[in-house]
Amino acid sequence: MSLSIDLHMHSNVSDGLLTPAELVEHAVTHNIKVLALTDHDDTRGLAIAESEAKRHGLQLIKGVEISVTWKKRTLHIVGLKIDPEYPPLKSGLEAIRAGRHVRAIGMAASLDKAGIKGSLEGAYEYAQEGIISRTHFARFLVNAGVAKDNKAVFKKYLVKGKPGYFEHEWASLENAVSWIVESGGVAVIAHPGRYDLRRTNMLLLLEEFRSLGGTAIEVVTSSHTADQYVEFAKYAHQFGLKSSQGSDYHGKGLSFMEMGRLPALPNNCVPVWHDWPEAVSLDG
Ligand code: AMP
Ligand code: MN
Ligand code: MN
Ligand code: MN
Repeated sequence: MSLSIDLHMHSNVSDGLLTPAELVEHAVTHNIKVLALTDHDDTRGLAIAESEAKRHGLQLIKGVEISVTWKKRTLHIVGLKIDPEYPPLKSGLEAIRAGRHVRAIGMAASLDKAGIKGSLEGAYEYAQEGIISRTHFARFLVNAGVAKDNKAVFKKYLVKGKPGYFEHEWASLENAVSWIVESGGVAVIAHPGRYDLRRTNMLLLLEEFRSLGGTAIEVVTSSHTADQYVEFAKYAHQFGLKSSQGSDYHGKGLSFMEMGRLPALPNNCVPVWHDWPEAVSLDG
């Protein structure tokens, strides 16, 4: 039953609402058997998640979701089965997190100009010791009554051309893929349907990603429509890439979808977990 495999989710180490331990418990109650914790640019939650998963008889896959700039666009590359202690991965993520702080200052200055004060401190109140992200700014803006919910924020703020947007250069695709793959992990293009790429650029991306050592793409994710499951299953087949699935769960009010609700991968997909001992009994 492939539905019990969820390979993309966030804890409050990045922009999710639940602690890593709470997230694992949430997965238990939603019948997940194999889960990957994939916080943005941070792996601090993995140790606790792993011990909690063990306690509950779940398989924890060590993951991360790396922010990348490719052709002036932001892409997300998920790493699965990574070694979080691999030095180039560790220092690469550290550099991205330092960049997040600088960007947050720029975002707050932009909101300031639009008459919205105190957002830097406000966003950090939500981030606590975790990374700082647009989600934390969004929560501040909702709480301040500037927008009615998270979704509304991302229409009027924090995106290109709107208050709170600040241009930022993330890691290169080459670096992100090599940190993941050289640490022993599998590199996966997260929610490819969410990027504003025409067919030509999508083909270029898949070609480049594969030549750098990337081996999978997300086909079934909460950000794809049913048509996109079919579309990306085709791309996966065309490029000889494996297919992944994940809810991209962030917590109540932040997620597009609850855990355990996604349909199975289309039949013609080779699941990214097809040769994983952790998932062998689940037969995806
Ligand atoms: P950042 O990495 O700081 O740019 O923040 C990106 C995060 O913001 C994503 O991982 C989502 O959790 C959230 N996000 C981005 N766009 C939207 C949207 N349209 N609706 C809801 N959440 C969004
Ligand atoms: Mn997020
Ligand atoms: Mn993402
Ligand atoms: Mn995500």
